[in-house]
Amino acid sequence: MPDFMQTPLDRSYRADNARKLPISANHGNPKTESAELPASAWKAMLRGARGRCPRCNEAKLFHRFLKPVLICSACAQDWTHQQADDFPAYIAILLTGHIMAPIIIALVQDTKLSLIALAAIIVTAMLVLMIGFLQPAKGAIIALQWWFGMHGFTKERRAPENTGRDK
Ligand SMILES: [Zn+2]
Repeated sequence: MPDFMQTPLDRSYRADNARKLPISANHGNPKTESAELPASAWKAMLRGARGRCPRCNEAKLFHRFLKPVLICSACAQDWTHQQADDFPAYIAILLTGHIMAPIIIALVQDTKLSLIALAAIIVTAMLVLMIGFLQPAKGAIIALQWWFGMHGFTKERRAPENTGRDK
């Protein structure tokens, strides 16, 4: 989210938490060792899209609608590295457009509704979809940035599991 969209409340939240942070939140914390890392980028994105911590799946990723937590309360992952910016909005627009396009065409082709009624239905549906997609899209993008170790995230992978065929 761009800086100009932040409220003074967001800034004070950030400042409060920055003071509480240990210098390196990612290392030397026993909690971080026990996190069950996702098996793939898709799994990480799914966790993020569901609003869960992509790293451990144990805690919430967002403390406000589009504000990720600074530190995961379960695995202590530092989420301040995320830079989703306005990419979630592009994804929400893309998805909404693809879902609504056939619906709009069908609505307009055979309906006896007035233009105002049509516009009201279409605009409402688009707004609901747009807003509905924003948080999952942001969660998935943050998960992806974390998975690929972008913007200062530490790239982490599961230790290869011993999945013998005799099991
Ligand atoms: Zn976590």
